[in-house]
Amino acid sequence: MYLFLDVANVHDQFVEGSSSATYEVFNPATDESVGKINCARETEVDAAVAAARAAFEPWAATPAAKRAALLNKFADLIDANNAELVKAEVKAMGQPATVAGGFIVPATAQTFRYYAGWADKIEGQAFPAEGDRLNIVQYEPIGVCAGIGPWNVTISTLSWKVAPALAAGNTVLYKTSEKSPFSVLVLARLVKEAGFPAGVFNIISGDGVTGALLASHMDIDKISFTGSGPSGRKIIDAAAKSNMKKVTLELGGKSPSLVFEDADIESALTGNSQGFLFNSSQVCIAASRLFVQKSIADKFIDGLKARFQSLDGAVGDPNSPNTFIGPLADKAQLERVLGYIETGKSEAKLLVGGERKGDKGSFVQPTIFLNPARDARIYKEEIFGPVLSVLTFETEEEAVKLANDTSYGLSATVYTGNTARAIRVASKIKAGTVGVNAPFLPSMGSPFGGYKQSGSGRELGKEGLMAYLQAKSISISLAG
Ligand code: NAD
Ligand code: MN
Repeated sequence: MYLFLDVANVHDQFVEGSSSATYEVFNPATDESVGKINCARETEVDAAVAAARAAFEPWAATPAAKRAALLNKFADLIDANNAELVKAEVKAMGQPATVAGGFIVPATAQTFRYYAGWADKIEGQAFPAEGDRLNIVQYEPIGVCAGIGPWNVTISTLSWKVAPALAAGNTVLYKTSEKSPFSVLVLARLVKEAGFPAGVFNIISGDGVTGALLASHMDIDKISFTGSGPSGRKIIDAAAKSNMKKVTLELGGKSPSLVFEDADIESALTGNSQGFLFNSSQVCIAASRLFVQKSIADKFIDGLKARFQSLDGAVGDPNSPNTFIGPLADKAQLERVLGYIETGKSEAKLLVGGERKGDKGSFVQPTIFLNPARDARIYKEEIFGPVLSVLTFETEEEAVKLANDTSYGLSATVYTGNTARAIRVASKIKAGTVGVNAPFLPSMGSPFGGYKQSGSGRELGKEGLMAYLQAKSISISLAG
């Protein structure tokens, strides 16, 4: 099978890239090859940018209600094609079908509906005349916007960028990860089916080289990136060295979970086992550093070990309805996670797991390490896999200090039965999202993003829309 990259909807068809660069994708549950994608290079990127540029003014001038209608239609098509999208995602990155079909696909459609609702509610401001001046502010789209995403919640990441960008009147180019390209190519077909005008919503396939071409392009006005910290740095650098395009970054995390002695223990156990292991812990907000209050630590850690052991039985074929934990996304991710586990064995006490599961596919046992040193790699670095570090604390003050002992700041969770403490601790944690008594769950209306090195800017909610608009202040002389 050979897949085609969608250079631009001007062609109204999928076109094959001009370069010989391809990327082969393997099913991480079976190790079988499941297809190749073309990687867009300069010719394709330039063509897509030119199409988006040509489409920009007409799209920005399209009545908001019409933009909204197209976004809603696209959302309906996403739901109608749930099964095909799930199949595409499962074979590329091994996400359990129940997760993809039950959560990711519906959430993607919902994001498009949510931002369709914003399209005709973009307001300006007017101020009482000052002297002989009337000041008004209007919000205008930015222009041609690029999005680059990772492979862990592929189409949902696309929706967080593309839906607000289009609602606000921008045109877009989206490149997803080379590790999970197929679901986005299904969406490319739906773009056409929904009837978006040519050049408004472009999808290109490719790897890091393609991404770098977008980041350094002279005619892209904004780039929104979700992925690893090191790639995020390269994006800022490329933006600075090219046309100073605006940059939004959603990067990684090493999020803390704090369990206080007054917590509901069952919820805390569920959140730190099932919650943490969701999507094989390939989740940017996964709470991978767990801190338990000493007075309950022995009992809690025993309970957690039992939960991890029983969830080991839910690791398996992502197509099975009984599977909760699929494989890691690919061989590279498997090697990376196993590398951390090996390092961890000399940095901490292995409590449970610690091995690859089986000899086929990229499966890993849910793993817990106890008491790593504060400079241990497994404690400091994002692993993006089912490897949890557990430490203990005595006081609330110490807990907050440990939670903030990281260069990241994407998320945190606090488990306590004391509402005042929950709010106190949530307010002291340097992170953009905090869950209380359950892992944080993104919701359409609430801004999502990171403190510190977890990124800059926010997605979702009104802030996610404003990220695709720029303010223009107009001062009108009333004299004469
Ligand atoms: P990655 O940085 O390797 O790749 C992300 C994307 O960037 C891919 O599409 C890739 O092709 C592209 N890319 C690679 N090099 C590039 C370059 N030099 N210039 C431009 N684009 C380039 O990350 P990944 O392994 O695909 O994803 C995992 C990471 O994503 C984790 O760190 C995770 O925490 C993060 N993530 C963050 C969020 C969030 O919202 N904060 C959500 C999901 C994942
Ligand atoms: Mn096309």
